[in-house]
Amino acid sequence: MKKTLILQAPAKINVGLWVKSKRPDGYHDLASIMQTISLADIITINESTEHGIRITCDHPLVPTDSTNLVHRAATLFLDQMSIVPALTIHIEKKIPVAAGLAGGSTDAAAVLTGLARLYDKSLSPADLMKMGSLIGSDVPFVIHGGLAVAEGRGEKLSFHEPPRPPLVVVIAIPSGVGVSTKWAYENYHPGNNEAKERTFNMLLDAYRARNLDVLRKLVFNDLESVTLHRYPEVLRIKERLAATEEGVVLMSGSGPSVFGLFADKRSAMKAVRTLDGLPVDVFIEHTAKKHF
Ligand code: ATP
Repeated sequence: MKKTLILQAPAKINVGLWVKSKRPDGYHDLASIMQTISLADIITINESTEHGIRITCDHPLVPTDSTNLVHRAATLFLDQMSIVPALTIHIEKKIPVAAGLAGGSTDAAAVLTGLARLYDKSLSPADLMKMGSLIGSDVPFVIHGGLAVAEGRGEKLSFHEPPRPPLVVVIAIPSGVGVSTKWAYENYHPGNNEAKERTFNMLLDAYRARNLDVLRKLVFNDLESVTLHRYPEVLRIKERLAATEEGVVLMSGSGPSVFGLFADKRSAMKAVRTLDGLPVDVFIEHTAKKHF
């Protein structure tokens, strides 16, 4: 009988992003605190009678050809396991596209873990993360999920327990704006790192201790200088969400999504009301645990 798998593919936010330097291979050396959140795409994998990998997606901006990261992940997995491709994969997109929330990477991660289950392959999380690193820098983290400090290109990961109880996460994205991660990095010119190193080292402790007052003073995302300059609507959202001074507000990844971390729903909703009248998509989520 042909098998079907339905999987959650959760998004991430960067609770701090330090772009240290540009590397000779064109990538950047960075340090970031990565946190899984509850907002998730839904991936349905079906074994098929037809040869090949067929992708469908309910979002008009997501390609369904071999450039889709899901297609790349499935091809890589089947190649490495010497399995003849015969699959259909549907992506139900809940995570906004090109928003700095690792939407494509998490879909790819779900497919790698899903195919290991579907074909009963006993691959460890480390095996899957190694495979994921061939698809993209964020993929190893989203395979594991939870809370991690990512270094190097994003592939050197040290995992930690996420804050307990979970924080409420408000995601706000200006309608119709997508930011290319490549463009943002190309336009960022790393500078003096000394002060940032000290600040970054204190970030994780403040975050894990749920100390939002300290975190608010420390947190930074180097790519804000690029994206907020080009898209003032992102800056406006950031200023509004931060106006209540109860949360920690920052752009995620290369943007344009802005997130606010709040201790409880009441303070999150108070901040959400400050966005009234702005053309913005809002999601109210929470920080989430690891998958394994
Ligand atoms: P990151 O935070 O990892 O930089 P992002 O969240 O900013 O990524 P994505 O949502 O992954 O960006 O989309 C970036 C581009 O990747 C899209 O414009 C789309 O063309 C392409 N893409 C390929 N596969 C997918 C997928 N499964 N879901 C979304 N976009 C995809």
